[in-house]
Amino acid sequence: MNLQEITNLMKHPSVKDLALIGKAYAFAEHAHGEHRRYSGEPYFAHLFETARLIAELGAGAAAVAAGLLHDSIEDVSVRRETIQKEFGDDVLMLVDGVTKLGHFRYRGADRYSESMRRLFLASSKDLRVLLIKLCDRLHNMRTLHHVPKDKQQRIARETLEIYAPIAYRLGIRKINRELEELSFPFAYPEEYERIRKLMSEKREELSKRLIKFHKSLLKGLARQSIALLRTSDRLKGYYSLYNKLRNREWDIEKVYDLLAIRIIVKNVEDCYRALGAIHATWRPLPGRIKDYIAFPKPNGYRSLHTTVFTGDGGVVEIQIRTEDMHKESEYGAALHAAYKEQETMTKGTGRKSLFATLMSWKSVNRSAEKPVLHTEDAGSGIPAWVRELGDLDSTVGEQEFWERLREDFFKNRIFIFTPKGDVVDLPTDSSPVDFAYAIHSDIGDHLVGAKVGGKLVSINTELQNGDIVEILTKNSAHPTSKWLEFARTSIAKKHIRNALQKIDQRK
Ligand code: MN
Repeated sequence: MNLQEITNLMKHPSVKDLALIGKAYAFAEHAHGEHRRYSGEPYFAHLFETARLIAELGAGAAAVAAGLLHDSIEDVSVRRETIQKEFGDDVLMLVDGVTKLGHFRYRGADRYSESMRRLFLASSKDLRVLLIKLCDRLHNMRTLHHVPKDKQQRIARETLEIYAPIAYRLGIRKINRELEELSFPFAYPEEYERIRKLMSEKREELSKRLIKFHKSLLKGLARQSIALLRTSDRLKGYYSLYNKLRNREWDIEKVYDLLAIRIIVKNVEDCYRALGAIHATWRPLPGRIKDYIAFPKPNGYRSLHTTVFTGDGGVVEIQIRTEDMHKESEYGAALHAAYKEQETMTKGTGRKSLFATLMSWKSVNRSAEKPVLHTEDAGSGIPAWVRELGDLDSTVGEQEFWERLREDFFKNRIFIFTPKGDVVDLPTDSSPVDFAYAIHSDIGDHLVGAKVGGKLVSINTELQNGDIVEILTKNSAHPTSKWLEFARTSIAKKHIRNALQKIDQRK
């Protein structure tokens, strides 16, 4: 562990950047002193790894410094004022944000996963907070086997339900994949075991076939003078295989990307040339040729895919892309470009596209009444902006950029807690009546009063983001037509009308 391992990963850090990170490094190492992890390692190892991951993702100096300091308020009682004085407002805001996010606990009910994910996004004033949190969680998952057994499953499920989808939503496939694969055995041990057994007989043979085909592919492409920057191969991950098998009646023959080879070439033209060369030598499987360059996936993914018969009875999926496409798909198209933008902005050129970036994220949000974060949800539209970099002029600063991005994500929504800590998200201006109906129609129909933060309030009170609301019920209670005047959600209005009708009929 040393400082250079972190700073070497950064692109063009300034002298000021290096000083900030160096200071945070020394500060964190000292502040956490004898503090240790479950593994017995010094706690600082966790901070070091978190910061290293953040640097690897291409984030700036403030985020890297905040990565080093992210547990200092919570775990070793460093004062907020101290962080502000030593490292400035930006770093304090990030550390603060990460600390606050640490307080939310996933309670295991599926219907709340979506709310939790939204809450997470809404609560981080700045998307860099989420980035730090993801890196923090990734290192925690890498070391989960050291954590006491009774905590492992909850942490792993929380990771699968909350963090992995957020990484996916931000387009950071590299983290998304690793979080899923690390969580799987702890979150669903039986399912994991089933996959492990299924693969244990095949693994060795599959690996051999993959290596053999990889070699002949390289030879074949060289013969046709296709210039490759690099290639890699992989066996499909267990979690990803598990998900596929569930949708394929557990028939492994129907999984065509069990083996895959990735080819990185210089430019788009070479992508198509490589595809042509491959098809000239190996017969492609019909219906498996995908041009995600001409037609990118909604989350921004670009690549050419094909699956070919290898000649030994098996098939291999081949993915062809440029270095830029690869970085975008692994590290997040949105973040990647935002950083790039900040970089060029500091160099005093190319100011215009930042605003365009922001605008296209806005267009994403307009369609976001549906769940915003879902693994299958393709509604992100991130790539649109890559291509839409227009000629809008703007001088939006970094901080403002992130802030507007976040606001836009969660405009007009508030997050309300039950006394047990479950989360319900509602439109702004919602009342305890809306909250009650959001939990259950029976609770709404028998509401007599409500407490916010333990204090009795009138039932038309406008709820505020983060309120803890307790609903008081009584069997004899029922809605009145007055409720319709302040109920905000359509579900509450519907139930109130139904109840009023029933009362009418009884008269
Ligand atoms: Mn941590």
